[in-house]
Amino acid sequence: MNFSSKLLEDAVNEFSKLPGVGQKTALRLVLHLLNKEQEEVDHFGNVLIRLRKEIKHCSVCHNISDQHTCNICTAGKREKELICVVEDTRDVMAVENTGQYFGVYHVLGGLISPMDGIGPSDLFIDSLVQRVATTPVKEVILALSATMEGDTTLFYLYKRLKDFQIPITTIARGIAFGGELEYADEITLGRSIVTRVPYQNSLIK
Ligand SMILES: [Zn+2]
Repeated sequence: MNFSSKLLEDAVNEFSKLPGVGQKTALRLVLHLLNKEQEEVDHFGNVLIRLRKEIKHCSVCHNISDQHTCNICTAGKREKELICVVEDTRDVMAVENTGQYFGVYHVLGGLISPMDGIGPSDLFIDSLVQRVATTPVKEVILALSATMEGDTTLFYLYKRLKDFQIPITTIARGIAFGGELEYADEITLGRSIVTRVPYQNSLIK
């Protein structure tokens, strides 16, 4: 692309770094912003700057939050003894959307993936074990995607948690989630949380 302005080129380059945005789309978005009022564009920029600077991760469950401890962890009516382990904040949103789950969460921040150089120590796994060891927990639900990385992570978590003598359950693995919890339809995902099964069952095959 030949740009008539370096400022225009820089903006298009930044937008095209976003996932799923090619140069053409980037140009369209940038030109769209150029037609907006200055105030609106300032606000857009400020939202992005504040997002990166001010966002926090919950000290208990590691979910994205505006506070030191997130709304779910501080809510009085949630069952604190029931922990649903998920890959990232999108999965928390997916499970919340089902309206079928009333416990709390633990966000791992990814899945174990030796191919990408992501090992257990890169994820919030120690803090999960710590939670189970130091607070009353009556069940851990492992709600991870049905991928090789999801399976590897499930097995690793099971090994780390099995000595605590609490039920470790998993959502139905046969259900087509499209690989990711966030894509599951709410009814199917909600049902699989309600009908979760002991993880040990999936090991006897
Ligand atoms: Zn939290």
